[in-house]
Amino acid sequence: MPGRLYIVATPLGNLQDVSERAKTTLARAEKILCEDTRVTAHLLHAFDIHVPMVSYHQHSSMLREKEIVDWLRDGQTLALVTDAGTPGISDPGGKLIHTILQVVGSDVEIIPIPGPCAAITALSVSGFPTDHFLFLGFPPQKNGRKKYFEQIRVHSETVVCYESTHRVVKTLEQLKEILGDRSIMVARELTKMYETLYRGTAAHILEQLKHTSNKGEFVIVIGPS
Ligand code: SAM
Repeated sequence: MPGRLYIVATPLGNLQDVSERAKTTLARAEKILCEDTRVTAHLLHAFDIHVPMVSYHQHSSMLREKEIVDWLRDGQTLALVTDAGTPGISDPGGKLIHTILQVVGSDVEIIPIPGPCAAITALSVSGFPTDHFLFLGFPPQKNGRKKYFEQIRVHSETVVCYESTHRVVKTLEQLKEILGDRSIMVARELTKMYETLYRGTAAHILEQLKHTSNKGEFVIVIGPS
């Protein structure tokens, strides 16, 4: 029997956002592949799930990938989670799925267990058109930033980006330079205690962040030009 890999979406912060299907899938898996075992341990503890965890993150070795491939070839049922949201969306999940497809092909069933995704959650409250949007993930930290921001400047429809607490101010300052009065929305700490939505121009939002906090995780949604 072919192995199965369930791609399980987990909450962005609020544990009530986990689906019944996600809980059942995690509880029935033989192993849970996690980006950070400490983060996933908290989730499993909350739902009284006792399944061995195996770490899989962006720096995992080829040896770990080979182990995972071997477990799937042996017909095991595995679940993949990342720290928050839907695995495979701007996180190490995508690379693992790609590797498995290349090495094992269709002998492995890859099954999505849908749930929260920070980009979609932010878009849903942005008020910007969502029939078409461009998702760009994280801005590059060093090389390629100029090209990344130029892509945003010339794109006339809604654009969605991820950003961390360390670089959100720097990124908003660059957006202020290139976007002028274009409206944006910044979603901070979605579903968590300090969830805040900031709306306005980049300059306006930078001011608001100064008076509140730039701590936490961020999605930046840029409205159409
Ligand atoms: N796969 C995840 C998903 O489905 O959204 C995203 C993984 S990516 C490595 C992590 C980034 O997602 C964070 O740096 C932040 O930009 C965004 N993010 C995750 N949780 C968030 C939250 N609660 N509020 C705002 N942004 C969040």
